Amino acid sequence: MFTDEIRLCVEKHYPKGVELRHHIHKYPELSEHEVETAALVADTLRGAGIEARTGIGGNGVLGVVRGGRPGKTVLLRADMDALELDEAADVPYRSTRPGIMHACGHDGHTAGLLMAGMVLNELKDRLPGTVKLMFQPAEETVGGAERMIEAGILDDPPVDAAFGCHLWGGGKEGTVLVKAGPVMAAPDEFRIKITGAGGHGGMPHLAVDTITLAAQVILQFQTIVSRRKDPLEPAVLSVCTVKGGDTYNVIPETVNVMGTIRTFTEEMRDFIPGEMEKVLRGITSAAGASYTFDVTKRFPPLVNDETATALARKAAEKIVGPDNVHEAAASMGGEDFACLAKKVPSSFFFVGIARDGKPAIHHSPHFQWDDGALRVVSACLCQTAVDFLHGS
Ligand SMILES: [Zn+2]
Ligand SMILES: [Zn+2]
Repeated sequence: MFTDEIRLCVEKHYPKGVELRHHIHKYPELSEHEVETAALVADTLRGAGIEARTGIGGNGVLGVVRGGRPGKTVLLRADMDALELDEAADVPYRSTRPGIMHACGHDGHTAGLLMAGMVLNELKDRLPGTVKLMFQPAEETVGGAERMIEAGILDDPPVDAAFGCHLWGGGKEGTVLVKAGPVMAAPDEFRIKITGAGGHGGMPHLAVDTITLAAQVILQFQTIVSRRKDPLEPAVLSVCTVKGGDTYNVIPETVNVMGTIRTFTEEMRDFIPGEMEKVLRGITSAAGASYTFDVTKRFPPLVNDETATALARKAAEKIVGPDNVHEAAASMGGEDFACLAKKVPSSFFFVGIARDGKPAIHHSPHFQWDDGALRVVSACLCQTAVDFLHGS
């Protein structure tokens, strides 16, 4: 329903979408600092005649498009934050801010959802129900989605389903990737401090060697994934930071170890830290050392609802054609859209941006994609919302 109109309307708003994307890309803002971006979003929504609420859960913005007839409420989501790195991509709209870059594609999500809002606003008299347009802060760090949920964006009117998408460097330009069930991992973090009596590097028998203990712990951790858990259940345990000692002849009193745990189920999410603690307890107690172990649970695993995903798949097929909609592979990356998916039936899909057989690498200083993907992002989101409200 409305597919031809959506296409035409997306085309009409495309130049504005490109202008918005370039502006957001030129003036990127880090997580929790999306002040100018949020103001641009709110101004653009209001300029198009769309109601906008600001300052939700930090810098979050919510646009509301009310249909001409009563019905359900669907939420479409984009994220607004950039990353801490210097842009090396040779593009005319290159970042003007040293050390900050839109290297994940969130500039495209924001511009694409603004385009979708403008299109839906033009169709609203014939829409049954309400569309909420969620522009969230801090996806890359603290999880702005959770904060916006706590601030009540799923209420008044209550949201019946949520959809979102990510530009995807692993997918071919012009294609859309969808998958029901677990699609992105829970990205939890851990911090360990091993403490022992330090001492002279030449007299280790009078000290407790925290460096050797840390090395043992790290190697033993690798057997949790390879030997302790069910091999058919995916999980990653990566130690990414080891800090201990300042010089060549002093055994340090402390060694700090940090890393990430990636899992797809709540059971595995608890199992891995439990096994890590056993390793830590055993190795440190045998040597007379002590430890602290803190796990920060960031986002839950992202699990796409079957029915919502079937709807998103059909909507994408109408926009890019059935031959260009493929099954997505699950990724060990994390995504805080998962917080929405835990609360309401949801689906998160991926819009391909890879050109000439070369994947675009997210979080790389060379990350870039062609503006044309904005058409796919906005049209797919519109079609999904329209189809959901029409109960198809
Ligand atoms: Zn990212
Ligand atoms: Zn991202």
